[in-house]
Amino acid sequence: MSAQDTPPNTSAAPTGPRDTRGRPLRDLRISVTDRCNFRCTYCMPREVFGKDYAFLPHRDLLSFEEITRLAGLFVAEGVQKIRLTGGEPLLRRDIDRLVAQLATLPGIDLSLTTNGSLLAKRAVALKAAGLHRVTVSLDAIDEATFQKMNDADYPVARVLEGIAVAAAAGLGPIKVNAVIQRGVNEHAILDLARHFRGTPHIVRFIEFMDVGASNGWRLDEVVPSRELVDRIHAEFPLRSLQPQYAGEVAQRWAYEDGAGEVGVISSVTQAFCSSCSRLRLSTDGQLFTCLFAQSGTDLRTALRAGADDNTLRDLLRTVWTARTDRYSEIRTEDTARQQKIEMSYIGG
Ligand code: SAM
Ligand code: SF4
Ligand code: SF4
Repeated sequence: MSAQDTPPNTSAAPTGPRDTRGRPLRDLRISVTDRCNFRCTYCMPREVFGKDYAFLPHRDLLSFEEITRLAGLFVAEGVQKIRLTGGEPLLRRDIDRLVAQLATLPGIDLSLTTNGSLLAKRAVALKAAGLHRVTVSLDAIDEATFQKMNDADYPVARVLEGIAVAAAAGLGPIKVNAVIQRGVNEHAILDLARHFRGTPHIVRFIEFMDVGASNGWRLDEVVPSRELVDRIHAEFPLRSLQPQYAGEVAQRWAYEDGAGEVGVISSVTQAFCSSCSRLRLSTDGQLFTCLFAQSGTDLRTALRAGADDNTLRDLLRTVWTARTDRYSEIRTEDTARQQKIEMSYIGG
């Protein structure tokens, strides 16, 4: 294994700009497409994202060269981790070429979040291009629930195959993300825990969030992560683990019998805005400082008008230093109804 094969240690103290709450810029999420081959009911419900939905035209998408140029500037301002997402990032043609370009940026931990449906085909090329890790979303391990949630007839086996091939290619240990929704897939909590116990992979249960404006979110459909942990603990005793780095989003728990680890992401019941260091770049080059943003800052126009690096850097600094976001700390049923940007566009 060469030095580039392993993600660099990204726990160095940040040196770049701070926002109005003193938060540094550390993580960049890049959405590479707003399209997806799934129609997860909590993210891209088919009634809204149907046949007539107007996805971005190709000319509006940032090119790989444009993305890499911006990413390089962000890295110079303190970004240590880059995650490719979407929509479904593996639908973007030649995505491994973008990975190869981003992998040349110094000291970057480079990862990708995918629904896993195309991973078995792509994992080896992604690894060869320089990707360090993948996170795979999987909301249930029984066919009926999984297909009801992805609403696109994709079988569980396809995702499990993707996880296996990615792990064999050296993209593991794999984080498996599961969004838990009350009354929809609560049984998947123990099913998933049981399935991945004893493997190096880490299931992370995510509280159902009011992202976008089309998933019909209700507070009573959120399963609080405290309850989630209690349910697993009742069958497989757990002990809490210390965070691996400041601002880690998932709370980590180890099985007391040594069978591995699970995590919970409590975005609703225990907001982590105070340490949020994430910036999001949309498919068409808008910059967003919060997952629940209602507007962003257009970088593409400046980029295509020939802006030099200093101009773009000043724009980025202005955006970050003015940042005030703390949506999850102030969420109510009313704010949930606001017209927020859709997650498939802003990048989950
Ligand atoms: N398509 C890829 C996937 O599903 O992994 C990447 C993009 S997806 C928007 C990124 C993550 O956001 C997934 O793990 C998904 O489960 C999560 N997500 C989407 N909508 C959500 C919601 N309403 N609440 C919580 N998590 C959500
Ligand atoms: Fe697609 Fe991911 Fe959203 Fe599901 S969660 S619809 S796979 S973007
Ligand atoms: Fe960060 Fe916004 Fe989420 Fe708070 S609500 S943790 S500021 S993305």
